[in-house]
Amino acid sequence: MTPEEFRRHGHAAIDWIADYYSRLESFPVLSQVKPGEIRAALPAEPPERGEPFEDVLRDLDEVIMPGITHWQHPSFFAFFPSNTSGPAILGDLLASGLGVQGMIWATSPAATELETHVLDWFARLLGLPTAFRSDGPGGGVIQHSASDAALVAVLAALHRASGGRTEREGVAAGRFAVYTSAQTHSSVEKACRVAGLGSDALRKLSTDAEHAARPEHLRELIEADVAAGITPALVVASIGATGTGAIDPVRELAAIAHEHGAWAHVDGAWAGVAAVCPEFAWLTDGLELVDSFATNPHKWLLTNFDCDTFWVADRSALVGALSILPEYLRNAATESGAVIDYRDWHVQLGRRFRALKLWAVLRWYGAEGLREHIRGHVALAQQFASWVAADERFELLAPHRLALVTFHLRAGDDATRALMDRVNDSGQAYLTHTSVNGQFALRMAIGSPQTQARHVRAAWEALAAGAGGAA
Ligand code: PLP
Repeated sequence: MTPEEFRRHGHAAIDWIADYYSRLESFPVLSQVKPGEIRAALPAEPPERGEPFEDVLRDLDEVIMPGITHWQHPSFFAFFPSNTSGPAILGDLLASGLGVQGMIWATSPAATELETHVLDWFARLLGLPTAFRSDGPGGGVIQHSASDAALVAVLAALHRASGGRTEREGVAAGRFAVYTSAQTHSSVEKACRVAGLGSDALRKLSTDAEHAARPEHLRELIEADVAAGITPALVVASIGATGTGAIDPVRELAAIAHEHGAWAHVDGAWAGVAAVCPEFAWLTDGLELVDSFATNPHKWLLTNFDCDTFWVADRSALVGALSILPEYLRNAATESGAVIDYRDWHVQLGRRFRALKLWAVLRWYGAEGLREHIRGHVALAQQFASWVAADERFELLAPHRLALVTFHLRAGDDATRALMDRVNDSGQAYLTHTSVNGQFALRMAIGSPQTQARHVRAAWEALAAGAGGAA
């Protein structure tokens, strides 16, 4: 593709995306295809000769689109809605155009320095402790996802707990333990598996009436492990747990972790970004006591996947756990010690220039625009929760401080599941479920940049109508 051909097809692709935004509401939210239907419409053999890009765009419409669930649809209330925006897409496109591999400073100084700078900006916007900024021993980096953040937190924690021995010797079964609440995302258990600790190393903390981890239980579990000769390596607290939005008492959990020399990590994948609003500054309470913190602009801050922002208060354990310097990566800048090489801050070596899209988002919206985005969703969720609370057929199952409302039908699990299926099958809205105290619960996650009051009202009307006389 020559530059001129690229210009022509590029314009067509951008037009396609712009048109997609204008017609988004005309699609059913949830794809209606059956398993295998999309593959059956694709040729069995790859093309022998090149094809025009127009044909790719045509097949996108005809073959691919029926199999798309519209994550940006204003009535997408499942999981956590996708947070793409124009400036993020354009920033990402520019990064693709540059094709930079920013694995070490020397391979593209701007890729590293912009990322460091944007993460410092973002730390300021969220009111994070100054220890997380790059001008001291700490600093921030963009990870693919909160799951990667959890994994590197486990690895840094093991490095510290073992005095640097786990990198050479591996992890002996039954030597280290990790603690987190039953509400915490499954990515923490997966991180334990990937790190070689195994799921058995994970201790689940019991929760209180608001689904937050109980610090007394953490203390009991740690003391029992220490008595049995097991080293507490890591405590993971959640702010904004996936199922219920639970907020753990970070300050108390981190203090107990540190009494026992364990690393404290906070997973704020979804909710953490809300701290851009001063009224949600309480979300960052206690972070000055923790070792690492992650939040995903791709979950609720207008930035397309993937973009997890991850900070450490002291990067030495992270770099100690992950740094291996083969001859072919040696260079004067690295040896001077004056630069950051982000390859030492995550699992993979190569890395895309993702800071460009976050930079574009922060500059386009400014702090005011970001706050407006969060506040709009929180207000809509509060309105939705008030309708649920006022209808005696329904019951709220968790506090709803932000934009996630967890609820069910008092008539029970079967009725709640049937209601969800009815609404989802209609294509008008898409909600997913969780389990709260063993009960089947619906989650209304409001977060699409496209969602307006009328969409939330329509979803409520569909739920209320579908609930019939359930009591
Ligand atoms: N943590 C929380 C609280 C989440 O809600 C999620 C996903 O929904 C994750 C972690 C995993 O996120 P990611 O897809 O960025 O790995």
